[in-house]
Amino acid sequence: MQRQPLEPLLAQLEREQRRRSRRTVEGYARAGSHAELIIAGRRLVDFSSNDYLGLAGHPGPAAAMAQCAARTGAGSGASHLISGHGAEHDALEEALAAYTGRERALLFSTGYMANLGVMSALGGPGERVLLDRLSHASLIDGAKLSGARLRRFAHADVAAAERLLGTIGHPTAVLATDGVFSMDGDVAPLAALAQAARAHEAWFVVDDAHGLGVLGPTGRGALEAAGLSAEEVPVLVGTLGKAFGSFGAFVAGSAALIDLLVQKARPYVYTTALPQPVAAATRAALELAQREPWRRERALELTARFRAAAAAAGVPLSDSSTPIQPIPLGSAHAALEAQRAVADAGFWVVAIRAPTVPAGQERLRVTLTAAHTEAQVDALAETLGRACRFAGTACGAASP
Ligand SMILES: *Cc1c(COP(=O)(O)O)cnc(C)c1O
Repeated sequence: MQRQPLEPLLAQLEREQRRRSRRTVEGYARAGSHAELIIAGRRLVDFSSNDYLGLAGHPGPAAAMAQCAARTGAGSGASHLISGHGAEHDALEEALAAYTGRERALLFSTGYMANLGVMSALGGPGERVLLDRLSHASLIDGAKLSGARLRRFAHADVAAAERLLGTIGHPTAVLATDGVFSMDGDVAPLAALAQAARAHEAWFVVDDAHGLGVLGPTGRGALEAAGLSAEEVPVLVGTLGKAFGSFGAFVAGSAALIDLLVQKARPYVYTTALPQPVAAATRAALELAQREPWRRERALELTARFRAAAAAAGVPLSDSSTPIQPIPLGSAHAALEAQRAVADAGFWVVAIRAPTVPAGQERLRVTLTAAHTEAQVDALAETLGRACRFAGTACGAASP
């Protein structure tokens, strides 16, 4: 893009109803909870965050952060390979390796960077990388950074992935997918993909940003729910800013994999280490998540309650049993109208538009967390039902 006036470009986005803007969260209605936000001076129940276990506002991790900061200060001062790597990083990496049942874990500053690091370290020019079409943007960008040829297969279509794996030409270095799809809430066919990747000697990478802490008999995520071992899924990416309510991310795998990432993952090597107080907060949150399984159970119970209440109110639902519950609306206009209607009724739910989702599949993305009450969930379902009736055809016509 050559230098030119930018206002017309922004106006064009505005006309297409694709221009995005931020809302400032001025505060929280209650100390120790993020369930209700203050936005533009109004109290809104937040049904949009990824804080599934209700830990982002919890005082425990905040206290661990403050205690650590008193010892280490706020900043790490350098990258992990220079002088920024500290005892709190080690302690969290050990806890994450134990939690995920893998030899080692490596902290990254964000999930976006973890995916860039993994994909670029494992893929390279002359090779192929295969991704589910609805994979997170960071997997796509990581594939591009790797220099490998990127091929995407139809969403959750194992046969399509197998066809690409079987195509002669460049060898496939990596097959990657979200565990739980971030905008759809459905779970990838992990067992079949693991088998396909293994048969073709490709690395299988699962980004379980939205499954960890929530799914599986003990909350260890989509892999635990599918009964898959570290052998079957050699590369697990997890984020710490979602169910664990903190910030950062990690890759878990064999000792050799982690050592390779330390050598080759540029988003690991060339960046300042995550502040140790953040790692301390995460470790406290990880302990809370394990000590209080009711959080996960509650998020899933409220999810089931929301689905039943929304269905009864005539709200279209998608095929998701996770706390991510998209309401398909079919256009940016309908999604923005619905966002406005539910905000007027006191709920913060955000319209998800292209290019985050394919054009024509715009939606409201509702998320349930352990911090919600039954009454809030019921009231949201009822409000959505009214918004849908008001929108007339827009809601009903947009089956996914
Ligand atoms: C949020 C998300 C990421 C990015 O993680 P951050 O820590 O927020 O950078 C990566 N993958 C998926 C599937 C996500 O939903």
